[in-house]
Amino acid sequence: MRKSIPHKAYDLIVIGGGPSGMMCAGRAAERGARVLLLEKNTVLGKKLAITGGGRCNITNAEFDVRAFLENFPESRDYLYSPFSKFSSKDTVAFFTQHGLPLKTEDKKRAFPKTDRAPDVVIAMERFMRKHDVTVKTGDPVATLTKLPNGQFLVKTKNGDQYSARSVAIATGGMAQPETGSTGDGFTMLKRLGHTIVHPNPNIVPLTSTTKWVRTLAGTSLPLVRIRFLQNGKVALKKQGGILFTHFGVSGPMILNSSFAVSKLRKTGPVEASLDLFPKSDEAALDAQLITLFENNKNKLLKNVLSDLMPASVAREVLALAPLPIADRKVHSVTKEERRALAQLLKDLRFSIKGTLGYDKAVIADGGVDLEEVDLKTMSSKLCPNLYLLGDVLNINRPSGGFSLQLCWTTGFVAGTEAGDSARRGKKSGR
Ligand SMILES: Cc1cc2nc3c(=O)[nH]c(=O)nc-3n(C[C@H](O)[C@H](O)[C@H](O)COP(=O)(O)OP(=O)(O)OC[C@H]3O[C@@H](n4cnc5c(N)ncnc54)[C@H](O)[C@@H]3O)c2cc1C
Repeated sequence: MRKSIPHKAYDLIVIGGGPSGMMCAGRAAERGARVLLLEKNTVLGKKLAITGGGRCNITNAEFDVRAFLENFPESRDYLYSPFSKFSSKDTVAFFTQHGLPLKTEDKKRAFPKTDRAPDVVIAMERFMRKHDVTVKTGDPVATLTKLPNGQFLVKTKNGDQYSARSVAIATGGMAQPETGSTGDGFTMLKRLGHTIVHPNPNIVPLTSTTKWVRTLAGTSLPLVRIRFLQNGKVALKKQGGILFTHFGVSGPMILNSSFAVSKLRKTGPVEASLDLFPKSDEAALDAQLITLFENNKNKLLKNVLSDLMPASVAREVLALAPLPIADRKVHSVTKEERRALAQLLKDLRFSIKGTLGYDKAVIADGGVDLEEVDLKTMSSKLCPNLYLLGDVLNINRPSGGFSLQLCWTTGFVAGTEAGDSARRGKKSGR
């Protein structure tokens, strides 16, 4: 760590020691800037250390930048510039060079070979140490002011003051506030004139008041199709696994639908329809039931249907059937009743009440409007030498390593720019 700074003035102050802040600080220092990183927790990367269920889905190994950006439907045009400078391929190379080789699993999700998220924090700390970043933890930044001479003044809650020609805001969004992301950066940015798109929980489970859904809490189905309906019309459909919970539904397919569903709910009530047999149309499913029934003529229907699905799901489906057929022998089930059952298995309705809160969200959407950011450098268009990173930005994306890649990219691009501009400033004597 650099000890010989005569006064508390830096080229760059990074506020927030999450993935984006650590990448920016390390990179700017690598390019020759004197960098201070301020983190309010007593440790760095508190959220990073719990990512990916403790394994850290560090990036998505889709190396074609355009294909990668298909996952950022509202912001891909903005993001091409920073991602062409530092992509997921660069992330893999970066961590390999810094002693943390990665491996790729299904859907191109990349993890450290060690399967340990805290190792990512350690690698980033090592990177910053190598380049002499000064790190101060356990002292939240209270205010950020732009002085008339163009410098920034940063004051912490403990009363320390620092100045710098550049500041990077890497304070995260609002998701899982217990990790330190409580939206402090948004307050600072509003004071500097930025527009903050109101955050909402995103990549978050959906809630339902429908009893059968809650009764199935703990049951998961590996492949279903879900349709979200508004005014009886399909507004969104997805296919994947589902987990029933005591509050509603979860699992990757649901988490990745939450942004669109929340948006839809703004225009009216939303209902969900579950298809338990997405690979068969109604006629094919009916044929499957005919075979099942023929092989089990004298058994009770409730004991037979569980050949096709978990017994708990079969019980709830039969309870929803228009006529009470669960306790009837299979041979007594009429053709009409069987067809109605096939229909039900492909269209199980339940209500969507909303989402869980920030404390259960992976990210929060909202943040700084991208129109106010120069994406070539990740700097503010409104306030010179101010950089905006990671979850501070209003960028919707799915789970799968895309959020952390956004942090590595924005941190690296801003760090490069802040470092180079510090060098240019020194050369010209400014
Ligand atoms: C449970 C969970 C699992 C996740 N898993 C994955 C995954 O596997 N893959 C993936 O891509 N994404 C994952 N994410 C999302 C990912 O963790 C975030 O997108 C990412 O951490 C955002 O990084 P950041 O640097 O922008 O902010 P953060 O990680 O939120 O860090 C911001 C930092 O700023 C500090 N700070 C805030 N205010 C102040 C202040 N006033 N002064 C000083 N410091 C301050 C905070 O304490 C915090 O340390 C997960 C999220 C959660 C909640």
